[in-house]
Amino acid sequence: MRYDVIIVGAGPGGIFTAYELTKRNPGLKVGVFEAGHSLEKRHCPIDGEKVKSCIGCKSCSIMSGFGGAGAFSDGKYNITNDFGGTLYEYIGKKEAIDLMKYVDGINMEYGGEGTKMYSTAGTHFKKLCLQNKLNLLDASVRHLGTDINFVVLENLYARLKDKADFYFDTPVDRIELAEGGYRVICGGETYDCDKCVVSVGRSGSKWMEKVCRELKIPTKSNRVDLGVRVELPAVIFSHLTDELYESKIVYRTEKFEDNVRTFCMNPYGIVVNENTNGIVTVNGHSYEDVEKRTENTNFALLVAKHFSEPFKDSNGYGESIARLSNMLGGGVIVQRFGDLVRGRRSNVKRIEEGLVQPTLAATPGDLSLVLPKRILDGIIEMIYALDKIAPGTANDDTLLYGVEVKFYNMEVEIDRNLESFHKGLYIIGDGSGVTHSLSHASASGVYVARQIA
Ligand SMILES: Cc1cc2nc3c(=O)[nH]c(=O)nc-3n(C[C@H](O)[C@H](O)[C@H](O)COP(=O)(O)OP(=O)(O)OC[C@H]3O[C@@H](n4cnc5c(N)ncnc54)[C@H](O)[C@@H]3O)c2cc1C
Repeated sequence: MRYDVIIVGAGPGGIFTAYELTKRNPGLKVGVFEAGHSLEKRHCPIDGEKVKSCIGCKSCSIMSGFGGAGAFSDGKYNITNDFGGTLYEYIGKKEAIDLMKYVDGINMEYGGEGTKMYSTAGTHFKKLCLQNKLNLLDASVRHLGTDINFVVLENLYARLKDKADFYFDTPVDRIELAEGGYRVICGGETYDCDKCVVSVGRSGSKWMEKVCRELKIPTKSNRVDLGVRVELPAVIFSHLTDELYESKIVYRTEKFEDNVRTFCMNPYGIVVNENTNGIVTVNGHSYEDVEKRTENTNFALLVAKHFSEPFKDSNGYGESIARLSNMLGGGVIVQRFGDLVRGRRSNVKRIEEGLVQPTLAATPGDLSLVLPKRILDGIIEMIYALDKIAPGTANDDTLLYGVEVKFYNMEVEIDRNLESFHKGLYIIGDGSGVTHSLSHASASGVYVARQIA
């Protein structure tokens, strides 16, 4: 079988490559290979009753399948160069923003219409934050919500399914250089193509490393972000979340001069488990549907850890810390802020008596036995700083879930076309280490598709 273009991975990067390619040049023969299931078959067995924790499915429906890691996400499309990746370093700031806006337009056309766009432009919170040593980053954020995000994906698939060949449950084993292009090998089958776009996201990071080794594409190790997910009554943050929805706030700690930042804010949302290669960490999301809202808001507080020579395995470092929390708590650990600062373990009774009803069943424990002191000190400092702009953040009953780890893929060497030194082999999205978000990954897909088309 020969294709003009083969796309590996059907996350936002792969989907928007397919969308733009088939729109700009309908004559192209396009094949999309995806390790996970089709959208309707994606289902995580954890139901909180019969199945309470991860059972390690062969293909994790949260991370893999049509829609990629974004399918059950909160669907927050941040339109900004300030975070979410460094796409602008390759294609320029204006082009990056224009592409993110273009993606937003498509999301609106395919079911997102009516969802809200929030913006930090002109907000008085910027001043309030600066007065309290906090830096509120600039962004516009489209919040689709987990429910509408799913509808958009359904509609995009309905448009694409007759325009490209989709192969689900088909992990690509190898990519080889072949006459006039590339050979993609899946199980016993081989498929040839002129051009190949690889968009395998975070779940494909180990595979991506292997491909880079085999094809001698240089890579460099990246970083890992470690921290906790904070859960508190939604009213404490409602003045910020009602106006901005997501506020990305950075605090520079006094003690170590590390940057601690808020990440993935979910007003009226829920805290969830996330399974990465068998390691259970914590994440969160929220629904656009008012009926599904909770009384809590959650967000992560993360510290970025960059390593220098000779240590190269930043993700391995993050994994070990997450494993430690899994070892102690059998999964995610939850602790009241008051217990943490008093140096004692939380227990079921104190959590039940607290003002914040946890939205995730986690094991009450002691995060100071898991997180390195430097990271924990930074998080505690930031909670007190946030308390000045959102009084109540540092209440004893504020819940901290740990650990939250944000793994980054190693950065693959690509040029300004997002092309490796092998002409016609493009590496995009989170799998390239260049993007870390829905909007940047989607924009990178549109960008390469326009060049190919
Ligand atoms: C729970 C959760 C919530 C999130 N919420 C947000 C949010 O609100 N806003 C935001 O900006 N970002 C969010 N993110 C991050 C966002 O989902 C990713 O940045 C985005 O999905 C990256 O897109 P991608 O196409 O690069 O990779 P992915 O979405 O990871 O897609 C890659 C696809 O490639 C497939 N694949 C991997 N290896 C192979 C192989 N060998 N062969 C074939 N297929 C393969 C995978 O199965 C996967 O489906 C969230 C992530 C998670 C897990």
